[in-house]
Amino acid sequence: MERIVIKVGTSTVCHKNGAPDLRRIDALCRVIADLKNENYEIVLVTSGAIGVGTNKMGLRKRPKSMAGRQAAAAIGQCELMSIYDRFLLSYGCLSGQILLTKDITEDAKGRKNVIATFEALLKRHAIPIVNENDSVATEEIVYGDNDTLSAVVACFVKADLLIILSDIDGLYDKDPSADPNAQLISLVKDISKLNITATESKSEHGTGGMITKLHAAEIAGANGINTFLASGKNPAILYSIMDNSAKGTLFLAGGNHEND
Ligand code: ADP
Repeated sequence: MERIVIKVGTSTVCHKNGAPDLRRIDALCRVIADLKNENYEIVLVTSGAIGVGTNKMGLRKRPKSMAGRQAAAAIGQCELMSIYDRFLLSYGCLSGQILLTKDITEDAKGRKNVIATFEALLKRHAIPIVNENDSVATEEIVYGDNDTLSAVVACFVKADLLIILSDIDGLYDKDPSADPNAQLISLVKDISKLNITATESKSEHGTGGMITKLHAAEIAGANGINTFLASGKNPAILYSIMDNSAKGTLFLAGGNHEND
C-alpha cells in the first residue's frame, strides 16, 4: 500500500476566468478513484477556492479587501468541494473536507487531532480533500500557498510521495515563460545545491509560483519524502508517475546525493 499526497494548483482546476474546469476535475477524480482501486491511499490538496468564488460572485478580479477575498473563499470552497464530492462519488469514492490553518498545524494538540482525522478518513477509504481555511485565516496564521501546505500534510500522513501538479511540466533551470531556452531538470538529488532562477506566480489566481514548490520539496525531503513535480494538464499523468515513466522533476529526499 502506498500513500500519496497530490497537490493541484489553481491553474489545473480552474479556467483562466476562475470558473472550475469541470473536464479536468472530472478526469482528476476518475484517476484518483482508479488509483484507490489499486490500493493507493490518496490525499488531495487543492487550490482554486478564491478563483471559483470570485467567478461565482460575478467579479472579474479577486476582491481587493481581505474580507472580500475571504467571502470569495467561503463561496468558492463550497462550490469546489461540492464538485469534488459529486465526481468522486460518481466513481465510488467518499471524500471529506479538511480546512487547515497554521495555528492548528503548529500546535501540538491541534496537530495530533488533525493527524488522527486524516488516519480515520483514510481508514474508512475516504479521500481527504485539504485546503487552507482561507475564509477565516488571518495573515499570521496562513501558509499563503498550498505548495507548502501540501508538504506539511505529506509529513503529517507520512506519505510515500508528494506529487505537485502545476501549469508547468517540471522544474527548469530558468523560468520558461521568460526564457524559451530553459532546460527541464528531471532529477534533483540535492535541492540545497540547486542553482536556478525561480519566480513567484504571475497569474491572476495563482499564489505560489516555483519558489513555493521548491520550498515544499525541501520540507518533504527533510522528512524523507520524495516530491514529483509535473503538469496537471492531463491528470492521467498520475498513472505514469506511479510507474516511473512521467515527464517531470523528481526531488529526492535526504539531500545526501550530489546533483548531476
Ligand atoms: P500553479 O498554479 O500550478 O501552482 P504557479 O503559477 O504558482 O502554478 O507556478 C508555476 C509557474 O512558475 C510556471 O508557469 C512558471 O512560469 C513559473 N516558474 C518560475 N520559475 C520557474 C522555473 N525555474 N521552472 C519552472 N517554472 C518556473
